[in-house]
Amino acid sequence: MTARADHLARVRTFAATELAVKAVGWAQEGALDPALFRTAADLGLFGIELPVEAGGLGYDFAHKSAICAELAAVDFGFAMAVVNTHNVCKRLHRSAPKLCDRYLPDLLSGQVAACTALTEPGAGTDVVALATRATQTSDGWVLTGQKDWIVNARHAGMSIVFAKCGPGDDGAAIGAFAVDLTAPGVTRYATETGFPQASMGTGGFTLEHVTLPPEALILSPGTAFSSILSEINGARAYVAAMCCAMLAASIDTVAAYGQRRSSFGKPLMAHQAWRLALAQAQTDLAATQALTDRAVAAIADDSDAQLLAAQAKIHAVQTCQHHLPRMLHAMGAEGLRPTNCLTRHLAAVQSAALTDGAIAPLLERVARLSWSATPLRKD
Ligand SMILES: Cc1cc2nc3c(=O)[nH]c(=O)nc-3n(C[C@H](O)[C@H](O)[C@H](O)COP(=O)(O)OP(=O)(O)OC[C@H]3O[C@@H](n4cnc5c(N)ncnc54)[C@H](O)[C@@H]3O)c2cc1C
Repeated sequence: MTARADHLARVRTFAATELAVKAVGWAQEGALDPALFRTAADLGLFGIELPVEAGGLGYDFAHKSAICAELAAVDFGFAMAVVNTHNVCKRLHRSAPKLCDRYLPDLLSGQVAACTALTEPGAGTDVVALATRATQTSDGWVLTGQKDWIVNARHAGMSIVFAKCGPGDDGAAIGAFAVDLTAPGVTRYATETGFPQASMGTGGFTLEHVTLPPEALILSPGTAFSSILSEINGARAYVAAMCCAMLAASIDTVAAYGQRRSSFGKPLMAHQAWRLALAQAQTDLAATQALTDRAVAAIADDSDAQLLAAQAKIHAVQTCQHHLPRMLHAMGAEGLRPTNCLTRHLAAVQSAALTDGAIAPLLERVARLSWSATPLRKD
């Protein structure tokens, strides 16, 4: 077995045992156990793409995507919590060498979680409408604003915060800052939904005149917005991979149930009318998995992945939204129990539909990239 396959197998075992036990509790509003983050750190999950000399594992995007899928097969929220912290480590390593000693040891060891904060109460899809403002002073920067709907924000120790620098109001004014979320002037809060958010740690924070040193600016105005646009393709591809994993796990759960549950004297699986739903889900999963694999490969190869990543995310989310309710129904009342993954994945796909780009703007992106009637915004 290669080192990569061995690593994937160890993550799968962790997900199927420790993570699966905790996930049942999260469905019933239990809190995230910090010890689980440290186990994830022991598996190297916060440094998958970081070079070995920087404390990482030195793997590529395809491996990160495969790890995301293994975790999401059990709990999408935990997978998002891990990959969002990982991505901050990667960003710090690439763009903020002066800050690595301060932040990376705690992040890589799972002591501290991190988040990337673009979204605000008044700006979601339209990122350029963000209102958080960074004012330059003789000592550095002062940040004021609010972020909401951010993975990990309820417990993260640090964040990469996108803000407009100076008086400018367009995409070119947006810069990115490393912010200590325990600093004076920062107040974190939990963002609750009708679905459990414990493992995803969804939350927000307000920034009231938060003072930052000059080196806290890690992506300068003029580069931050284009960096968001290119990196979000990777996020769309791994969210698609996570959706495929949630559907595959649901199909497996239902297929196993169909072998052991009988009606009218034979197993459910022996009833043709019952197993057609499963066969349809399996067929559609094969198609969306093939598209997702192409998107992941394009990103791993550094090819232009805008179109494939958008299409993969749209297709994977919609395939889950179509089939997960049918999978749940195929288990009868048993499908509603938190001890299996169906209700958890059904809830998670509603979040997956929004994170890293909602469906309608993604379809619009596909249209523009396919027919270029209207140029995509370049700012
Ligand atoms: C669980 C969860 C975790 C998240 N984590 C993060 C995170 O870590 N960091 C972060 O920065 N953000 C995060 N987000 C925010 C996410 O990126 C936004 O929810 C998403 O960008 C959509 O923005 P919005 O919710 O404000 O919807 P809006 O932008 O208000 O859109 C509302 C609806 O209108 C549609 N719409 C918007 N514009 C158009 C258009 N031009 N044409 C057609 N339809 C349109 C959208 O598709 C959507 O259905 C998270 C969201 C969720 C739910």
